Amino acid sequence: MPTIKDDSDDPLAHLASIDATGGRVPIHPTEVKGKWISRRQWIYLFFLGTWLYLPWIQINGNPAFQMDILHRRLHFFGQSFNAQDTWMLFFVITGTAFSLFMLSAFAGRIWCGFACPHTVMLEFLYRPVEAFFEGKPAARRRRDLKGFRQWNADDWRRKIAKWSVFFVWSLGLAHCTLAYFVSLPELWEMVQHRPAEHWQVFLWMLFLTGAFYGNFTWFREQMCLVLCPYGRMQSLLTDEDTYVVGYDAIRGEPRGRPKKNSTEKFGDCINCRKCVAVCPTGIDIRNGLQIECIGCTACIDACDSIMIKQNKPIGLIRFDSLNGLEHKPKRFWRPRVFLYLFAGLAGIGALTFVALNSTSVAINALRLPGTPYSVTDNVVQNAYELHIENKRSADVDLVVEDDFPEGFTLIAPQKNLHLDKRKGLRVPIFVRIPQDQFTGDETLHLHIMQEDDPIVVDLRFLGPNVTAQNEVP
Ligand code: SF4
Ligand code: SF4
Repeated sequence: MPTIKDDSDDPLAHLASIDATGGRVPIHPTEVKGKWISRRQWIYLFFLGTWLYLPWIQINGNPAFQMDILHRRLHFFGQSFNAQDTWMLFFVITGTAFSLFMLSAFAGRIWCGFACPHTVMLEFLYRPVEAFFEGKPAARRRRDLKGFRQWNADDWRRKIAKWSVFFVWSLGLAHCTLAYFVSLPELWEMVQHRPAEHWQVFLWMLFLTGAFYGNFTWFREQMCLVLCPYGRMQSLLTDEDTYVVGYDAIRGEPRGRPKKNSTEKFGDCINCRKCVAVCPTGIDIRNGLQIECIGCTACIDACDSIMIKQNKPIGLIRFDSLNGLEHKPKRFWRPRVFLYLFAGLAGIGALTFVALNSTSVAINALRLPGTPYSVTDNVVQNAYELHIENKRSADVDLVVEDDFPEGFTLIAPQKNLHLDKRKGLRVPIFVRIPQDQFTGDETLHLHIMQEDDPIVVDLRFLGPNVTAQNEVP
């Protein structure tokens, strides 16, 4: 019979936020002050402000960034893309993913601690409200551990006040999120009318409100620990030279405080556990690098404040590589960093190039269904339909011109075209050539002039087999 190891005493064998029965252990990190927390708060303010303000910024008559689902368009800082530009997503995904991989290879989960929307909103919007209504972390923990059946009137009052503000926050965040999919004026229109008139958007609003509320009221750190795929990939992306938040065990151990008149020697860690108390995922960083660490740096500030009081150098817990924490030589540039950097820059560079060179008017020439060509009265004719899409927020005027070799004639019912902003148009055109001048299939060039700037459209002209025609019977 194999023996089953009892790992109940091993802190690395289970999550700090889940007890032995699978129940949730409430985590209420102690507040901390220090240089890292103030840097983080400025960064949170920047990201939150950008996120809230971006839908208000207009460039060329469009929102600076909007995924306009209703009209199947993406507006990105003055450029507009439609469903036909979906292929560019390849560069968006590769560029973003490899840039994030490079960041992880350099500094682990720094994105999670400093810039992830989940962390920014939890730490900047929800946690302060909780502290305001429910008091200090110890009181909050006690209240949660009691369970709602034991709550008195004061507990209920505090909880209900907190949940009410959480609900308002979630409702506001849901509307801000929707502003990235429905333009602000449209959203404002919807808010003023009955939900039945725009029930799909209304259902999305309810879903997002519920998701924000559930996540920030209850799910919280579990998002980073069990759900986030980026967190799961960390062990693949990092190595011994990646900068992480870590504990210098060589300097800190053996931990503890010397008793009076004791000659026992201790390291710099006085085992005050302040680094554990401030951790939003409830881990003890002194147990080594753990996947639950989101790199928030709260434990650095906590430990530095203790070191200052103890008249010892700060940095017992610090941003350093695993090699650095073991006092070994460090390497900053490694092959994997170059690889991610190159792949990320290639993706972003390619995206920038195609975005800057994409036209504001998209034109496709499609052959009309039926026979590929017709021959009538010794004239070969091909029929096409131009699908023109104006991606701009202003009307455009276009002129259809041809640059055909001798013999070919363009028949277009409309040569001067007017397209309203963000509208499409379908225009039939025909190309003809006398059969005796037709020498074989050919690619012709159509010029669609937009303010003297031609958009060249290729037309493949097909006709009867010339060799067969010229054969002497
Ligand atoms: S805060 Fe610093 S001194 Fe206190 S337990 Fe953590 S590592 Fe040790
Ligand atoms: S171990 Fe330190 S850096 Fe990691 S999540 Fe906890 S407090 Fe933040």
